[in-house]
Amino acid sequence: MMDLKIPARLPNHINGKDAAASSGETFAKLDPSIGREICQVARSRAVDVASAIAAARAAQPAWAETTVVKRGEILRKIAQLMQEHRDALAAIVARETGKSLKDAGGETDAAIEMGYFVAGEGRRFYGRTTTSALPNKAAMTVRQPLGVAGLIIAANTPIANVAWKAFPALLCGNAAIMKASEDTPVTAWAFGVLAKEAGLPAGVYNTVHGFGEEAGAPLVEHDEVAVVSFTGSCEVGRSIAATCGRRMAKVCLELGGKNPFIVCDDADLDVAIQWALGSAFSNAGQRCASGSRLLVFEAVYDEFRSRLVQATQALKVGSGDADFFGAVINEAQLTGMLAAIERARSAGAAVLTGGHRITEGGLEDGYFLAPTILENVDRDAEISQAELFGPITCLYRVKGFEDAVSFADQSPFGLTAAIHTTNINRAMTFINRIKAGVASVNGGTYGSEPHLPFGGLRQSGNGWREAGTEALDVYSDWKTIYINHNPSKC
Ligand code: NAD
Repeated sequence: MMDLKIPARLPNHINGKDAAASSGETFAKLDPSIGREICQVARSRAVDVASAIAAARAAQPAWAETTVVKRGEILRKIAQLMQEHRDALAAIVARETGKSLKDAGGETDAAIEMGYFVAGEGRRFYGRTTTSALPNKAAMTVRQPLGVAGLIIAANTPIANVAWKAFPALLCGNAAIMKASEDTPVTAWAFGVLAKEAGLPAGVYNTVHGFGEEAGAPLVEHDEVAVVSFTGSCEVGRSIAATCGRRMAKVCLELGGKNPFIVCDDADLDVAIQWALGSAFSNAGQRCASGSRLLVFEAVYDEFRSRLVQATQALKVGSGDADFFGAVINEAQLTGMLAAIERARSAGAAVLTGGHRITEGGLEDGYFLAPTILENVDRDAEISQAELFGPITCLYRVKGFEDAVSFADQSPFGLTAAIHTTNINRAMTFINRIKAGVASVNGGTYGSEPHLPFGGLRQSGNGWREAGTEALDVYSDWKTIYINHNPSKC
């Protein structure tokens, strides 16, 4: 009987069975909102990864032979079980991330939707038929699976991160190994429990827990892993790309952002402020799409700044449903953010609000950072260029549209971007010129829905897109087929 009660020792899931790390080692997973242990987690190493890969290799051919319609049905069953256990899943997400149940529920709903969307693609697994230059020759293309997929994810939206990779990888006929984030192992474990209950054959989907160097790197290095799909930091992504490049493995990288949010002099400031708050601070700023650069026209800068600071100071922080955002994922991340703020301050930045850990109101044992706004930072300063992945944003004065778009693009990243304007020509010019994977007018710097492609330019990724039918391109390869139906007359 399936049970989503968090076990005291969270196991790997390999070849349809729970498995401790072969060394017996574990590490503690802490609750970010109170700093206390939730459970001990299998601390896997290369040997555990190798056994997951062996299971996946053995299971993959039969899974690939199962029709894609049937594979879609099994994935739909997983989505149905996620829906049935939606509150339990959301409770796990909330507990291990320190976000509210409300936010965790929204994220769980998006993950379920992704499951349904991808399952439906089982009946739309289109290739092409086309012509040949020669008579009596039929030409077509079909998708084929790659083999074993290594999936490595970040902790920020754990159930969505699992869903965005697991569903398309499996639909395409691959077997998969999920290397969950060490900060959110429980969600990944729960997905594995539901996937097994839904009838996924043993070995088709495996979960391995552990640290990046110990459990992630062996997955990336293994010759039997045909595609590595990674969501995480630029630094780790770059080293994964190098390893995959050496062994010519396909690699999909979904990395960071330093997303610009432009407020023009003709913007509706009430609307712009609401979207700026959500862009900068929702999910404690732990979003690749976070609006960490607010570019405001000179003419409305002072008004926007004072209203934004006021609105920010009114935000409630905590892990309850009435709170705007919760904890950051761990103590080390919090310490790193505080250090970056201090470096900016020493370089002359003004901290308009926040800039400190919250040490009162019942939040003192958790990892809570006050929502932070800085100004007077150079455009090429570290804090303007490097991703902080926390509830921290910087305000910049821009002279006008040209200055805004040119500074917006002055970034190593190119993930999402937003503009607030009532001028349609400005909006369209921004859409055409901004170098970003997602452009939003009068909205936030946000990710996209399950049926739309998401990914970025420059150091935000390597050109692949997750979600949408575009995700199928990551996990499958095209095969071109010729059939000479009258061979003597071809
Ligand atoms: P991270 O790179 O430190 O870790 C991500 C994952 O990689 C973890 O599972 C970790 O264990 C693993 N890992 C670490 N070192 C590894 C190695 N040498 N080999 C293999 N795996 C390794 O990132 P993080 O701090 O957990 O996540 C935050 C980052 O993720 C931010 O940069 C954020 O922008 C990015 N992110 C991007 C997207 C997107 O879709 N573009 C979505 C969410 C998060």
